Amino acid sequence: MKILIATGNEHKFKEITDILPRKTKAGEDIEYVSLDGVGGLKLPEETGRTLEENAKIKAVYAAKETGLPAVSDDTGLEVEFLNGRPGVRTARYAGEHADADDNNRKLLGELEGLFLGKRAARFRTVACLATPQGQVMDFEGALDGFIGFGYRGENGFGYDPLFIVAGTRKTLAEMTEKEKNAVSHRGKAFKQLAQRLETWPK
Ligand code: IMP
Repeated sequence: MKILIATGNEHKFKEITDILPRKTKAGEDIEYVSLDGVGGLKLPEETGRTLEENAKIKAVYAAKETGLPAVSDDTGLEVEFLNGRPGVRTARYAGEHADADDNNRKLLGELEGLFLGKRAARFRTVACLATPQGQVMDFEGALDGFIGFGYRGENGFGYDPLFIVAGTRKTLAEMTEKEKNAVSHRGKAFKQLAQRLETWPK
C-alpha cells in the first residue's frame, strides 16, 4: 500500500515517516511517497479559516489528484494573550513574505512588558488523512508552553527559539531533534495517525 505525505519539505517528510509504521498489523507493507514522488504535485493555497480546514483542503486535493490516500498537516501557534493569534496565520504573521525572524520579532513586540505568566502559548498541529474514496480523518497534537523574552537556542526552526516548553526550562531550539519530536505537537498528531494506520484500512 502506498500513502502520499503531501509535503514538499524533505525534512518534514523524514520527521513524519520516522513516526509512521512500515507495516500494518495484518502484515501489509506501507510505502510513503512525497510530492516529489508523484511528479511534484502543487498543493492548493491555504485559504481555510482553521488549521482543520487547511489540512483538509490539502489532503483532499492531493488524494483526488493522485488516487492515493494522502496525509497533510497544518500547524499554528496560539498565544493566549493574543486571543489565539497568530493561529491559522502563523506562517504569515508579520506579512505575506515574512520570514521566521520577522515573525519572532513581531511576537516579542506584541508581548512586550508582560511577565511570563501572561505569555502562555500552545502549538497545535492537525494532520488530515484523506482517501480517494472521500473518507477524511483528523488527528490532533498540542504542546503547551510560554513565549520567552528573547531568542534562546540554535536548533529547530520557526518560533522554536522563543517557545519555552511547559514543565521544562528549555526552548524548543535548546532541545535536540529527538527531544523535540518526543514532546512536539507534530509528533503527537502523527503518533495518533500511526496507530490508525496500523489497523488500516479497517
Ligand atoms: P506548517 O503548517 O507546518 O507550515 O507551519 C506553519 C508555521 O508555523 C511555519 O511557518 C512555522 O513558522 C511555524 N511552525 C510550525 N511548526 C513549528 C515548530 O515545530 N516550531 C516552530 N515553529 C513552527
